[in-house]
Amino acid sequence: MVSTFRLTVEEPPHYNFIKMEKIKNYINGKLIAPNSGDYLENFNPSTGKVYCLLPNSNKKDFTLALSSAKKAFLFWSQKSKKYRYNILMKLANEIDKKGEELARAESVDNGKPLWLTKQMDIPRCAENIRFFATASLHYDSKVHTMDGKAINYTLREPIGVVGCISPWNLPLYLLTWKIAPALAAGNVVIAKPSEITPYTAYLLSKICIKAGVPPGVINILHGNGFGIGEEIVKHKDVPVISFTGGTETGKKINEICAKNFKKVSLEMGGKNPTIVFSDCDLEKTVDTAVRSSFLNQGQICLCGSRIFVEKSLYPKFKSAFVKEVKKLVVGNPSNKKSFLGAMVSKQHMEKVLSFIDLAKKEGGKVLCGGRQVFLSGKLKGGYYISPTIISGLDYLCKINQEEVFGPVVSIMPFENEKDVIKMANSTKYGLSASLFTENLSKAHRVSAQINSGVIWVNTWLLRDLRIPFGGMKDSGVGREGGFGSLNFFTEPKNVCVKI
Ligand code: NAD
Repeated sequence: MVSTFRLTVEEPPHYNFIKMEKIKNYINGKLIAPNSGDYLENFNPSTGKVYCLLPNSNKKDFTLALSSAKKAFLFWSQKSKKYRYNILMKLANEIDKKGEELARAESVDNGKPLWLTKQMDIPRCAENIRFFATASLHYDSKVHTMDGKAINYTLREPIGVVGCISPWNLPLYLLTWKIAPALAAGNVVIAKPSEITPYTAYLLSKICIKAGVPPGVINILHGNGFGIGEEIVKHKDVPVISFTGGTETGKKINEICAKNFKKVSLEMGGKNPTIVFSDCDLEKTVDTAVRSSFLNQGQICLCGSRIFVEKSLYPKFKSAFVKEVKKLVVGNPSNKKSFLGAMVSKQHMEKVLSFIDLAKKEGGKVLCGGRQVFLSGKLKGGYYISPTIISGLDYLCKINQEEVFGPVVSIMPFENEKDVIKMANSTKYGLSASLFTENLSKAHRVSAQINSGVIWVNTWLLRDLRIPFGGMKDSGVGREGGFGSLNFFTEPKNVCVKI
């Protein structure tokens, strides 16, 4: 059965927001065209049209950024924490002032709904920066005494030039999540935003200039991952790499870093389980499962794409869930009513659609969605997919093992706790999990046995920036968040003083 979605096109011209322009790199405090004069096309996913060009940066651009960063490190790392705090707070304030523009730009660049960038993406950018600016003031280090014979104290020192490589799904949100702790700890940054969503990083460059960020402290280079991304990762004078993106890319980056003994943090893919026990609060669980499945078109690494429901509740949950999902509107990202906007790119949309085809071949039954959505007017060429629920699949089949990263979930019944733990832990990933039950003991017991770095009970995406965030198995190496990020971006040095 194919469900009908209300398609919306009546809102203001999302597609006219930004004029065709050539965005620039940000090096040594200045906006600079790429050395080669080479540019890549950037598409507006809601229309399928090219709307700006981004630098295809090369080694020469990197060399320039590196020398500016190295010079800036000598200065920035020697400044007081308070000095750095003041600059970062100014940056956060300027981001807030530009909130509306950034939110619209993120929505245009990525295809995600404007209400979402206003509510989540852009407020989190300023929050990330304030959080780590403040954390750096409270950051302390340990003292170990040796029975009156000696005292050890540990210094935590900034390391140098940090490479921050980020993905397209939460573009500025995740870029600032890396830049902020790196800078607060006294490092300088060369950042490489995703070539698929470069625009808000370009706006951030302008905001840095306005906020008085000293030249060279933040450098932003645009371009391909295999090109400029790898230049950053390979260079010996970039001793720290913080990466968020796909597992295959992470593996490649990890190999390069290992050869050079670099410090590396990898936040990668997920195939997260949503576990629904029969004693859950059904209404609240359905509500949360709809969000955790389809927010941001299902393009959040934390989205739950495998829904396991206890057998006795399965029929009731399934029909309530399908009913709610059918109400979701796919449409113009500017329209408040659109719960889902456009997929980020044509290639990605096609990949997700091919996973739906595969699921059908594997014997899955499409309960709703399962198709590309064609809007009319100027949004005709956009990349839209209806939210899709598939049932009848084995938990070990491909669609239940591989990351789809789109608005596609598989729903399956389970017999008991033991079974669902086995099913939940069956993938190579281990990023997050959510479970729903009113039984507190069961919640603790199951949480303890799920192999994921982040577990939510009766909620999803409730984020406290102090917690260790990251994945197990192929989902990640290391943890980001709170003082953990400051630990990552500093080198501990122990000093032993004999008494
Ligand atoms: P991607 O791996 O294709 O790209 C991520 C970044 O790496 C981009 O900036 C890209 O240009 C760069 N890159 C690619 N190849 C490179 C190379 N050889 N050297 C250096 N840099 C390179 O990922 P994506 O498609 O942009 O993002 C989607 C993926 O990100 C999904 O798998 C998702 O689960 C994951 N993700 C994980 C988290 C998390 O916190 N674990 C958060 C968001 C997204």
